[in-house]
Amino acid sequence: MGELMREVVIISGKGGTGKTSLTAAFAHLAQNKVICDLDVDAPDLHLLLAPRVLEEHAFISGHIAIIDQDRCTGCGTCLEMCRFGAVIDQQATCSINPLECEGCKVCVTFCPEQAIAFPDRHCGTWYKSQTRFGPMVHAQLFPGQENSGRLVSLLKKEARLEAEKIGADLVLCDGSPGIGCPVISSLSQAHLAVIVTEPTPSGVHDLQRVAQLCEHFRIQVAVIINKYDLNLGHSQKITQLCQDRGYTLVGQLPHDPVVTEAMIQGKAVTEVETTNFADQVRTIWEAITRLIEK
Ligand code: SF4
Ligand code: SF4
Repeated sequence: MGELMREVVIISGKGGTGKTSLTAAFAHLAQNKVICDLDVDAPDLHLLLAPRVLEEHAFISGHIAIIDQDRCTGCGTCLEMCRFGAVIDQQATCSINPLECEGCKVCVTFCPEQAIAFPDRHCGTWYKSQTRFGPMVHAQLFPGQENSGRLVSLLKKEARLEAEKIGADLVLCDGSPGIGCPVISSLSQAHLAVIVTEPTPSGVHDLQRVAQLCEHFRIQVAVIINKYDLNLGHSQKITQLCQDRGYTLVGQLPHDPVVTEAMIQGKAVTEVETTNFADQVRTIWEAITRLIEK
């Protein structure tokens, strides 16, 4: 590994491609790294890595309006002015649906009774933990919260700080699926995006979309075709796409029940006895290592 710290983000165009299983295996294989789970809407890397939480922090983002029922006269001003439909008419008073409130403060400003408080919004919790593979930074958003892009940025920053502190060469991230705000935040300043895809029509389409996003941000792309043997025709299409667009195809993995068996045991697939599949994952990790050493 070179002198500079590297950041690798494992992503996929959609969920369920085996991204997290592979990230867990890479976390097992990588040396001297900090692991970071950026899939904050549906984190599941912790199920395989069983982190021991060392620090727990509130994730605060924005504000929320809360009506003091004792002071509210039910004048209806907030109901009229809230353009997000967050205010609920209770006849004698009003209340606010916290899942709909966008924290714009309009109701707070115009309430004639100063009956609306505007505290910080506690959106979730983030953690610094230790795992059997090394330090891990991860989080859990509360249901219905939509600030995952900001939380992803915070986690990346904390993972980099941790890596600097312990002299790690690598931040290995399990990225968010899809192409929305969280994945854009996941990709920020990454050295390499490893896209895990499957040989289905939607898999090809999703790969194209997320790889274009990486190109837009000038991030080097590596591709893994998972369960390539389920449809050799689509696997060939993906291989051709990689050649045409200059993405590095770092490996093709077959469908193998050992992945599910490892998940049931709460282990990375490379931890369960030596299998052909695990050897192929090791070969892929070596290829990824070569790419980030360049
Ligand atoms: S504007 Fe203030 S007083 Fe009027 S209904 Fe809303 S919270 Fe109550
Ligand atoms: S803060 Fe804005 S979004 Fe929230 S209830 Fe008040 S007016 Fe509606």
